[in-house]
Amino acid sequence: MDLSYISKNIEKILKEIPDYVKLVAVVKNRTIDEIKECVNSGVKLLGINYVQEAEKIFSYFKESTEFHMIGHLQKNKINKAIKIFDMIQSIDSFETVLEINKRLMNSGRKMPILVEVNIAKEESKKGIHPENLAHFIDQISNFDKIEIMGIMTIGPKTENLELKRKYFKMARALYEDLLRLNIKNSNIKYLSMGMSDDYKIAIDEGSNMIRIGRKIFSK
Ligand SMILES: *Cc1c(COP(=O)(O)O)cnc(C)c1O
Repeated sequence: MDLSYISKNIEKILKEIPDYVKLVAVVKNRTIDEIKECVNSGVKLLGINYVQEAEKIFSYFKESTEFHMIGHLQKNKINKAIKIFDMIQSIDSFETVLEINKRLMNSGRKMPILVEVNIAKEESKKGIHPENLAHFIDQISNFDKIEIMGIMTIGPKTENLELKRKYFKMARALYEDLLRLNIKNSNIKYLSMGMSDDYKIAIDEGSNMIRIGRKIFSK
């Protein structure tokens, strides 16, 4: 099967985005061959929604790529998750952080994380509401097996691009607040926002990490 459209898609995206923007390939429901084509085209960051999905592909790609969790992490999957993931972008509760920290206690590792922010406070989405972010970060900064690296957000479900822009601006402002603070156990450097339909606006508004699925893997 000819999968060369994947490398063409990637080439096109990489040409459009500034060098400082990291491209995460979101591999949900993709085959090993599709993901191989993607990795061989130079995208070494894989975004994964479920621990089970990560387990299926881990042995193929663990040497050559980084695995980023981008979906809700269930409590009963934390042990597996900390073995597989290089970063968890979808931190949405205190208990999850507490458990990750506990399980890494006797290891030499820290887990890099992003806090998921539910920027438009949508019922359908997980994530910390913007007004609670400062307090949330303050609480989790006490865990020394956690490295807080920034925030992740998903643009609101709307066709209205100006409305999206407004929320991306809000997310950027939150990110800049974090940059200014002196937070324990942190190394703030990622604002992960922007998907296939809105990554250009997200980058305009300050994103430095985009998570792309369909634009990479669709013909
Ligand atoms: C699916 C998904 C993406 C990628 O979405 P596309 O529209 O296919 O680019 C990005 N982030 C998260 C959290 C996702 O679940």
